[in-house]
This record gives sequence, C-alpha cells and structure tokens, in this order.
Amino acid sequence: MGIKLDGKKVAQKYQEEIRRFIKLKKDKGQKVPGMANILVGNDSGSIYYVNNQNKLCNKLGIDVRSIFLEENIHEDNLMNIIRKLNCDDEIDGIILQLPLPKHLNEAKITSEISYKKDIDGLSNLSTGKFYKKEKCHMPCTPKGIINLIKSTEFEIEGKYAVVIGRSNIVGKPIAQLLLNENATVTICHSKTKNLKQICKNADILVCAAGKPKFITKEYIKEGAFVIDVGTTMVDGKLTGDVCFEEVIEKASFVTPVPGGVGAMTTTMLMKNLCEELK
Ligand code: NAD
Repeated sequence: MGIKLDGKKVAQKYQEEIRRFIKLKKDKGQKVPGMANILVGNDSGSIYYVNNQNKLCNKLGIDVRSIFLEENIHEDNLMNIIRKLNCDDEIDGIILQLPLPKHLNEAKITSEISYKKDIDGLSNLSTGKFYKKEKCHMPCTPKGIINLIKSTEFEIEGKYAVVIGRSNIVGKPIAQLLLNENATVTICHSKTKNLKQICKNADILVCAAGKPKFITKEYIKEGAFVIDVGTTMVDGKLTGDVCFEEVIEKASFVTPVPGGVGAMTTTMLMKNLCEELK
C-alpha cells in the first residue's frame, strides 16, 4: 500500500517560506512583490483561477492587481496593456489567463510579456531559456510536480519516467525537468501504441491526458511514483486520470485529485513571483 501525497501540505510549506520572505521585505521597508493578472472575457475556469490567485496573494501579503477586459478586446489594445505592465515598477509578475478568446493570438500575446515578469513561464523567450537550462521562470504545474516528488525520499536519478501527454504547459516541460534530474524519459501521447506496456515499466508515471480514471492498476509497476495531473469534471466532481483506490495498492506514492498537483500550482506561481530574475 502506497502513500497518498498531500499536495496541500507540501504547498503550505512553500507558502510559509513565501510569507517569511514577504514579511522580511516589509520589515526592512522594501517593496513587496506585485502581481497583475489579466482576464479577457468571462471563462468560468479562468475566473476560478483568478479568484484563487487573489486569495493566495492576500494570504501571503502580495500586492495584486486584477485587470478584467472585454471578451471582444482588440489584440493591439491587449498588447498595449501588457507593454505598459512590462514598464510598471509596481508590477513584478504578469499572468494572462488562458485560454484567450478565439480572435486573439495566444502565442504572440503571451510572448509580449517581458520574460522577467513572465511568472507563468509561457512566453517564447521563457520557453527557449527553459529548454536551454538558462535562468527563467519555470511553468508552474511542472515546477509543482518536480517539487512534490522532491518533497519525498524518492530518488529520481537513474529512474525510468513515463509522461503521458505532450502539451506545452504540462507534458513536455515535466519531461524536461525529469530529464534534468537524470531520469530516463519517455513521452507518450494519443497516438502511442502499447501504452500499457510502456507505463508498466515506469518507476515514475506522470498522467496528464485529461482522460478520467483511465490509468488502472494494470498500468502500474510495483512501487512506482504516480503523479495524477488530470482534472476533468465528472458528474460535478473533479476527477483525475488515475483510479486512485486501486493504483495506490501497487504504487509507492500517488497524488490525489483534488489535493495533489493542483494544490501546488498557484503556490509555484507565487514562488516564481518572489524569485527575481536579474
Ligand atoms: P492537453 O489536452 O493539451 O494535452 C493532453 C495530452 O494527452 C495530449 O498530448 C494527448 O496526446 C494526450 N492524450 C490524450 N488522450 C490520450 C490517451 N488515450 N493516451 C495517451 N495520451 C493521450 O492537456 P493539458 O493542458 O496538458 O492538461 C492535461 C490534463 O491536466 C487536463 O486534464 C488538465 O485539466 C490538467 N491540468 C491540471 C493542472 C493542475 O494544476 N492540476 C494544470 C494543467 C493541466
């Protein structure tokens, strides 16, 4: 029987560190980090994330400015708002909530964010620096995952890691972070053949397909570290990719949904905000 890895508990440790860092700044009369989050339109998921970010900022003593924009905003206007924030000394981190409405070019607009303020790590410059192992802000979900694994005694080096999913925000960057830790990494996706066979050999299995409960115990190697990134609403309940109850019988660690990876993501955003890039 494995261990249910409590993401909330690990996130709280990071939040304590951030709170101490902010308090020290305040005590010394220094400027507290400031964050701007931009929401275009009224996507319900994005509203939920902005509210979560704002709650955590308030809890940690971080200054936050929320900018709500009309769904039909012209691309040039949005670019100008970002350019102004890039030059605003009160703002150290900018988050543009995704997805953007269809008429807006996501790659172009996220890349307008100065890489020093790109605390989501999604601009082209941040991405290039990330894969070249240069100083930059890491994407928050993969950063949360790697820190979750590191919060345990589990050794990553030399292990065989399998990542299911190849998106730019989860699959590819977590594969890179595992590689940086000297794991041997395979990335699987919707066209992969023999997925079960590949997963069965994994010492570390990261599931980020967004397919509820499709990873059963037959996919799991005895003692594997299983990270469930998937979040899909099923009958009003947030559901992961992993059949938690049966997988934990075989694995050494499993992250639950909710309360696993998701619990780390916003905290990693705040950690990025406090890690100033020169
Ligand atoms: P995505 O849709 O961009 O990517 C899904 C990936 O899974 C694709 O690369 C696809 O090839 C692969 N895939 C789909 N079906 C598959 C199958 N049957 N077998 C193998 N691979 C398959 O999604 P994403 O943005 O990477 O997010 C993945 C999941 O993680 C979603 O459920 C999302 O909601 C969740 N997520 C959670 C957090 C968090 O903080 N908890 C953050 C980001 C994403």
